[in-house]
Amino acid sequence: MAEYSGVLVCGEVVEGKVSSLTAELLGCSRKLADSLHEPAMLVLVGSEVSNLASQGAALGADKVFVADDALLKEYQTDAYLSVLAKLVADTSPRYILFGQSAIGRDLAPRLAFRIGAVLTTDCIELGVDPQTKGLLQTKPVYGGNARAIFTSPSFPQLATVRQKAMSPLQPDASRKAEVVTLAVKVDPAVMKSKLLQTVKEEAAGIKLEDAPIVVCGGRGIGSADGFKQLEELARMLKGAVGATRPACDSGWVPAHVQVGLTGKIVTPDLYIGVAISGASQHMAGCSGSKVIVAINKDPEANLFKEARYGVVGDWKQALPAFVNKVKELLAG
Ligand code: FAD
Repeated sequence: MAEYSGVLVCGEVVEGKVSSLTAELLGCSRKLADSLHEPAMLVLVGSEVSNLASQGAALGADKVFVADDALLKEYQTDAYLSVLAKLVADTSPRYILFGQSAIGRDLAPRLAFRIGAVLTTDCIELGVDPQTKGLLQTKPVYGGNARAIFTSPSFPQLATVRQKAMSPLQPDASRKAEVVTLAVKVDPAVMKSKLLQTVKEEAAGIKLEDAPIVVCGGRGIGSADGFKQLEELARMLKGAVGATRPACDSGWVPAHVQVGLTGKIVTPDLYIGVAISGASQHMAGCSGSKVIVAINKDPEANLFKEARYGVVGDWKQALPAFVNKVKELLAG
């Protein structure tokens, strides 16, 4: 029977850097590895990724595997899967972590099936069972109304982890990792799909997930024009605009600004929720905000229960007054 050891993070590279989600996974893997007294490991698959091993080390990895090949330049399911399946067979990691990203969601279930292992998707917390060394995987269930902890008696155990659920370590350039270059043998014949085009998401201003201030609008905003007022406030505060699902579904704002269970997770210093009821599926994406401000005409709206400050009233009156005050403060 294989001797399982270590926590392997399947890394992603965005614009020539280890992605922020991978950095978060490495922060988590460091904690898990320390409590197991086993190594934290990272695998980077791509083209010209060898020089990124030091970033992995600085972010907490003890060992970095690199699979560097021109054929791996763009993400390709079958090619990436064959590299990972071979690495896992050769190294027997105890846990294998992916981001809950487009790539992670595609690769993790396929790898789990290929190696006959269990996978828990969309985790928000991970821990170690001290008795069994099983991975304790917490994820929201019942539409975000409850949390469940999953584990399994078999190894390896796979999990995908939500963006912003874990904290990255402060990068430490003096940390060193053992770097292992994998011999890549990708047979182009196994690549059943082909990437035709990559379209970069148009994003003006600061990214929603990274914004320190988020001004979020709900169904009560009523129109795309209404959202323009939220955009003005977000611009003034150097923040970003988010929205609830009904506002996105109505086409007032693009789907990529949806905050919640099936949207983005935001953890800003300040979240201003305007005309939002505060349904649990929405709160799943913003309850980690440091300060929540709610503006709603219904004093019973759930968002008030989560908010530190609240304005009961029509946003059409409250928001312009708020914007004017912010303008005044910024000018003075
Ligand atoms: P509503 O619940 O209709 O609330 C509108 C609010 O605006 C009300 O509180 C009202 O009092 C207030 N209002 C109206 N007019 C004014 C005014 N003039 N001034 C001030 N206040 C006013 N939702 C998400 O947001 N994100 C998700 O990721 C998400 N995922 C989901 C996943 C599943 C599986 C399911 C079942 C649902 C999901 N939802 C999600 C939907 C979620 O359940 C709620 O329906 C949604 O969050 C409600 O959005 P809302 O607050 O904009 O609308």
